[in-house]
Amino acid sequence: MTRAIVIEKTGEGQSASLSDITLPALAAGDVCVDIAYSTLNYKDGLALTGAAPVVRRFPMVPGVDFSGVVRESRHPDYKAGERVVLNGWSVGEKYWGGLAESAVVRGDFLVPLPEGLSLRQTMILGTAGYTAMLCVQALAGVDPASGTVVVTGATGGVGSVAVALLAARGYRVAAVTGRASETDYLTRLGAREIVDRADLSAKPRPLATERWVAGVDVVGGEVLANVLSMTAYGGTVAACGLAGSMDLPTSVAPFILRGVTLRGIDSVMCPLPARRAAWQALAREIDAAQLDTIAREVPLADVIDTAADFLGGKVRGRIVVPIHPE
Ligand code: NAP
Repeated sequence: MTRAIVIEKTGEGQSASLSDITLPALAAGDVCVDIAYSTLNYKDGLALTGAAPVVRRFPMVPGVDFSGVVRESRHPDYKAGERVVLNGWSVGEKYWGGLAESAVVRGDFLVPLPEGLSLRQTMILGTAGYTAMLCVQALAGVDPASGTVVVTGATGGVGSVAVALLAARGYRVAAVTGRASETDYLTRLGAREIVDRADLSAKPRPLATERWVAGVDVVGGEVLANVLSMTAYGGTVAACGLAGSMDLPTSVAPFILRGVTLRGIDSVMCPLPARRAAWQALAREIDAAQLDTIAREVPLADVIDTAADFLGGKVRGRIVVPIHPE
């Protein structure tokens, strides 16, 4: 038996508990992994609370990420004892996920542990950190000397890592937050300017004064629309999230009058070569001391109670769930 968080459908909606499960048998191409660390992302918060229909099959073991050691493999690329990382591919939504002592997944979903990162560090980063790198890579053509790069939802998981990565690449970073109390935290990560989220929450104008040359947005809605209207001529904004809203109340003005590019970022189905490249870049560029600054540990037994914090925008940085810690 394997100890796991299990979400079940009930008459009123769904319920979550820490239970014992029997993992599926290993089919051809599958790998059984003893999980060292998992983590909580915004999407796990939605799955565990049922706030959005993230879970597509019940019963479901949530957890879109894990790192661990291969116990048994029927996949040609993986052998027992190898250290691996998993992010996305609908694991934790359609397939049993990482908030468990072990998991059986398709070997094609795995990446080898990136050289230079520990199993714990990969889960401090998790999908949030790997998505932050995909966003930063989408801005690779932006010259650090050309102006400011804005990051929204800056104290959250994606935002914290994006601020740190962009600052390390030499960009002047403006961090947008609803939490002025976290100014020191954001400054320590490398932000040079703090922007009050309220400044970007009003009804957006088609175009506003140019404030930044590029951006990473995790919030969507009016915040993203305002970011676009304030992006300088020829700028690029990488959008990956909907923490504020799924809507985008913008106009074509930033695109046709300023040549602004809106780059969509998806981590879930991102092809393996791009994933590996993002993880290798994270291993090269992330500062280990900053990783510790953004991390907080939550035991598996406390995961269900912690999940609702994401909906209240109360999570700072990243939550790591040690399961078989190294
Ligand atoms: P998170 O840790 O909860 O961070 C989200 C941050 O957004 C919060 O810390 C908060 O930052 C801000 N925020 C929260 N509620 C808000 C609201 N109502 N209006 C405006 N700002 C709000 O979540 P995360 O794990 O970083 O994920 C962020 C978003 O990216 C989520 O929507 C997630 O689904 C998405 N995501 C997408 C992908 C992908 O593949 N496309 C991958 C990972 C994550 P401040 O308090 O600093 O303002």
